Amino acid sequence: MQSILQCMDCGQQYPVDQIRYVCDSCGSLLDVCHDFDKARISHALFDARLGTFQTPYHSGVWRYKELVYPAAADEHIVTRPEGNTPLYPSPALAQWAGVKTLYLKHEGENPTGSFKDRGMTGGLTQARVLGVRRVACASTGNTSASLAAYAAFAGIEGIVFFQNKQIALGKLAQAVAYGATCIQVNADFDRNMELVREVADKLGIYVLNSINPFRLEGQKTIMFETLQQLRWQVPDWIVCPGGNLGNSSAFGKGLHELYELGLIDRLPRLAIIQAEGANPLYQSFQTGLNGLRPVHAETIATAIKIGSPVNYAKAVRALRWTDGVVEQVSDQEIMDAKALIDRQGIGCEPASACSLAGVAKLVRRGVIKPAETVVGILTGHVLKDPEATIHYHSGTLPDITAAYPNRLHQAEAALEAISRILETQAEVSDRR
Ligand SMILES: *Cc1c(COP(=O)(O)O)cnc(C)c1O
Ligand SMILES: [Zn+2]
Repeated sequence: MQSILQCMDCGQQYPVDQIRYVCDSCGSLLDVCHDFDKARISHALFDARLGTFQTPYHSGVWRYKELVYPAAADEHIVTRPEGNTPLYPSPALAQWAGVKTLYLKHEGENPTGSFKDRGMTGGLTQARVLGVRRVACASTGNTSASLAAYAAFAGIEGIVFFQNKQIALGKLAQAVAYGATCIQVNADFDRNMELVREVADKLGIYVLNSINPFRLEGQKTIMFETLQQLRWQVPDWIVCPGGNLGNSSAFGKGLHELYELGLIDRLPRLAIIQAEGANPLYQSFQTGLNGLRPVHAETIATAIKIGSPVNYAKAVRALRWTDGVVEQVSDQEIMDAKALIDRQGIGCEPASACSLAGVAKLVRRGVIKPAETVVGILTGHVLKDPEATIHYHSGTLPDITAAYPNRLHQAEAALEAISRILETQAEVSDRR
């Protein structure tokens, strides 16, 4: 067998053809480990697939199949195809944040509008390998949207648990539209996460939250693709938001593998950014990363409104591998950074803006140096959370004063009224 499940702590191994999320002996998280074909794996192998129309190598996940799931059979692979997302150079935002070079890797430009699609292609492929008929997740929104779409695509029943409040409208609409069985549970995300595992165990349903290690195998390709887009030149920093910490864990594993395989000559440093109101990893980092104290989560960035991240241990490992750091930003900083990203014509949802807000803060604190090269990960699409955007620009968000508002003008249906607005607007732009 080319791939096995291995406990990250005690090393106990399990075959991949069984449903399992944690180690039977010690309860720790599992990794999917592969027996890499070192003779075959090279920059040239992956570069040669750029631009191909051939399934599944046209996917930005399966382009790296030898690193993701080498033995996966074509008939099992569920791909849209995902990935192949842009890496935007952004001189204007680099200047604002105070660094020489800033790229934004826009994972919101995936089929359902978030990086979760890279995880779902891995998760649904494994669901097919296992032959399960139902898959489920608890979600702050994007995981549900992605699961619903990929399950429908694969002809498998999708089941999603939503929290009781603050679900971004775009995400809820997607899960309903794609035909998943949607259950709104009267509890927050952390409780829903427990419930989905209990229900799934009882009813034999396959859980596709990021506790599922096959999700992370897909998500680690964000690093592979970023490095390939940079022609395998390693940036100094990778900066990403952290909620359940699946993505940052996956980044750590992917970068570590690239380094071990000699595909990169050094590791970038990872900076994980949390919202002040949902900052258990940040708090743990302040005290040397020796243990997690769950918090009650509150933030406008609903995608990372998580108080008890399931992948804590893997995120700690990623921070150790990459000499990483953890920073926190306020909802005010998040929404202002989002407005700046949006105004570039790039756009993202609130949680994603942690990346830019985090870069600016780490530069101010002297952690990121002005001459360094930074890649910020944008995790979700601007259309995911229209309410947050509209309320920000209308000045109706509680406790937030928009630094970069774009007010909606109201006009009578008359040339005179409209001209007056446009003339005033031209004066405003001239003064800028
Ligand atoms: C899921 C999600 C996150 C958080 O990722 P984790 O892997 O849970 O840390 C951040 N931003 C967006 C848009 C997301 O959908
Ligand atoms: Zn173990």
